[in-house]
Amino acid sequence: MNVLKFGGTSVGSTENIKKVIQILDNYSKEDSLICVVSAVGGITDKLLKAGELAQNKNESYLAEYKLIKQIHLDILSELIPNQNEASKEYLESKLHALKSLLDGIYLINELSPKTSDKLVSFGEQLSSFIIAETMKSYGLNAVRKNSQELIITNSNFSKAEVNYTLTNHNIRDYFKKANQRITILPGFISTSESGEVTTLGRGGSDFTAAIVAAALQVNRLEIWTDVSGMYTANPKLVKQAFPIERLSYQEAMELSHFGAKVLYPPTVQPVLDLGIPIHIKNTMQPEASGTIITNENTNGNSTTAKGISNISDIALLTLQGNGMVGIPGFSKRLFETLAQEKINVILITQASSEHSICFGIDEKDAEKAEKAINVSFENEISLHKIDPIIVEKDLSIVALIGDNMKNHQGISGRMFSALGKNNINIRAIAQGASEKNISTVIAQKDVKKALNTIHERFFEDQSKQLNVFITGVGNVGERLVEQIKQQKKFLKDQLKINLRVIGLSNSKTMIFNDSGLSLKTWKDDLATGEKATLEGFLERIKKFNLRNSIFVDVTANEQVSNIYADYLKENIAIVACNKIACSSDYENYNKLKYLSRKYNAPFLFETNVGAGLPIIDTLNNLIASGDKITSIQAVLSGSLNFVFNNFDDNTKFHDVVKQAQAEGYTEPDPRIDLSGVDVARKILILARESGTQMNLEDIENESFLTTSNLKSTSVDDFYKTLISDEAHFQNLYASAKANNCQLKYVAEFNNGKAKVGLKEIPQGHPFYNLKGKDNIVMFYTQRYPEQPMIIKGAGAGADVTASGLFADIIRIGNK
Ligand code: ADP
Ligand code: ASP
Ligand code: MG
Repeated sequence: MNVLKFGGTSVGSTENIKKVIQILDNYSKEDSLICVVSAVGGITDKLLKAGELAQNKNESYLAEYKLIKQIHLDILSELIPNQNEASKEYLESKLHALKSLLDGIYLINELSPKTSDKLVSFGEQLSSFIIAETMKSYGLNAVRKNSQELIITNSNFSKAEVNYTLTNHNIRDYFKKANQRITILPGFISTSESGEVTTLGRGGSDFTAAIVAAALQVNRLEIWTDVSGMYTANPKLVKQAFPIERLSYQEAMELSHFGAKVLYPPTVQPVLDLGIPIHIKNTMQPEASGTIITNENTNGNSTTAKGISNISDIALLTLQGNGMVGIPGFSKRLFETLAQEKINVILITQASSEHSICFGIDEKDAEKAEKAINVSFENEISLHKIDPIIVEKDLSIVALIGDNMKNHQGISGRMFSALGKNNINIRAIAQGASEKNISTVIAQKDVKKALNTIHERFFEDQSKQLNVFITGVGNVGERLVEQIKQQKKFLKDQLKINLRVIGLSNSKTMIFNDSGLSLKTWKDDLATGEKATLEGFLERIKKFNLRNSIFVDVTANEQVSNIYADYLKENIAIVACNKIACSSDYENYNKLKYLSRKYNAPFLFETNVGAGLPIIDTLNNLIASGDKITSIQAVLSGSLNFVFNNFDDNTKFHDVVKQAQAEGYTEPDPRIDLSGVDVARKILILARESGTQMNLEDIENESFLTTSNLKSTSVDDFYKTLISDEAHFQNLYASAKANNCQLKYVAEFNNGKAKVGLKEIPQGHPFYNLKGKDNIVMFYTQRYPEQPMIIKGAGAGADVTASGLFADIIRIGNK
């Protein structure tokens, strides 16, 4: 004999009920079966809602009732198009009884736990009837037995305790005589010793099945549900979670006790002593192997942690005070008080100083607990020996579970450091001496992030998910998205980096998808996106609260850079090609660096200098490894290079600058490039990264422009002055030519001082042959005193800038 239990979704629709019948039909060819069924999916909740509405004198309870009625009538008529009168009448009479009960609740304005149990019992009564009738109509040898006649409990309504002596006797007695192949039993419902309807607690149909399996000592208990087993974490919250093949009873109990809803926690107890295996299977995918739970040591292989689970709506209560130290009996009194109030304690921690005890309970019990404890310790509180109890809400427990964790060092260290890196604050920790369970209490808002972070650390083969949010999708941003699209597979396969673009925005619209935007259709999607604001973008990223979130600033906008601090404070990394923040006031630069360290949020801006060239990264590595920068000589402006590489005695300076602008090498206002400000910003950033405290005003800027160029009031005016001052530029060229030199705009940093300006570079110098828009940087350091370390290559352009941003994103992934 086998016992199979089918949950709410398995019997939630005509289609699924047909699947259930198919499974039962196959099985019953080999052996007789007991099939325990839940209420139709969602019905228990609807019954409770109707009851609550009726109790509150809200007439919409009638609408809720109608919906419940319709769901059942529809299912029955779809399953059995030609129903016989008797079954129609039975269903009508049950529904009528339900309506009368609800009317009664409405009338007296009261819903006691006793009536509530009676109310919810209709769910399983109706579903078991429909399934049994369908089976019979399909010609199967099936019979429905009301489990209320078998399972006897005390009168602890809504979560009654089983009287095993009476229950086992009833079950054995009934099945001794039963000779049908399939017996359908409603789960969850039972009867008290005094004959009232009771229930076994929410999710209790699993328990019904276990009670029956144990009473009959069957070979196997199967729990059929809507997922393919017990997963490494709740699959609704962790996409990468996967079914665990085998678990011990202890592990299954811990996982379910700490929130893995797929198995109701008391289910394990009845079958544990008898060693009856529990098999969790998927009704929608019967071929999937599912999870087997036994008392075997399932840890023969190297796996240590088996799964993570979470419980929401936790309140943490702390009793503290100097009067507690060294005085026995405080904990006893505290927990007695809670027991008297029937409050279940989920987690306890006590500091070894005994100065405080902290415990976690269901949030809905918090007020009751607070009152009871303050009354119980009234005397000590008035004498200031202890403080009034502290209550914190909106918390969750996240627990890592595995029998074998005790044999491995560093598991909790790995868990906590993974959480810490993602800035998830741990409010309390509990680890049993058995070390099967490490529990942490964290803010509710962080649960999804914490589960995914821990899951990635323990179960995902060292892979790392990066969640990217890009603002500014002009030329460079667009190339970046394109490069990400091309490299996605390679990153996943070769570097174990799972890179997803979650948000995109330009100045007008923004789009999001927390499972990753389509990189094929993003342009069309963005065109019809929601209205973009800088604050709105940040708010959404905060709300997603995803681990390893990276904000990529591909704008040149000051307002965007003004809110970097808000990102870093939320532990969101920043990758920017926008130079404004790093070349702003030193205080601001320094604050951002500090926030980046404090909140563990990388702040990378490699593309601020030399586009994709690894200049800042190299500089950082030199310094980190103990080298000291003595001097930096560099050509850092793609636009000025273009201008001076194309200007000679056959051209006009004005025309060359115009051409540079037309080809997109200069800022819209070419004065920013030609005045040297852009280069000054770059050398400033390098000087700061070398450890020098400096501001833009401290940089000496020997301009090669004329006074009238500098005094021009508009871009047009500036161009006019270039024409009138052509002789000045020709002089610069002639002098360089006479000296056999090339004109280059050079940035220098020597002994804590920086300057930028036009220079005549002699033949043989590394700068002499610099072509096109190339940049070059020479680092003279203690380790490279005579021959500098040189980095050279294209220092401007959309593709190389995008690849520099991409490299920064990957740097974060490799951290
Ligand atoms: P049923 O109605 O079949 O009893 P439940 O809804 O009670 O089903 O339990 C199945 C659900 O449990 C899954 O759909 C899933 O959302 C949730 N769940 C939570 N944690 C886990 C986990 N670790 N493994 C599998 N499912 C889990
Ligand atoms: N129908 C009950 C509930 O929803 C029992 C169960 O499904 O296991 O809690
Ligand atoms: Mg369930």
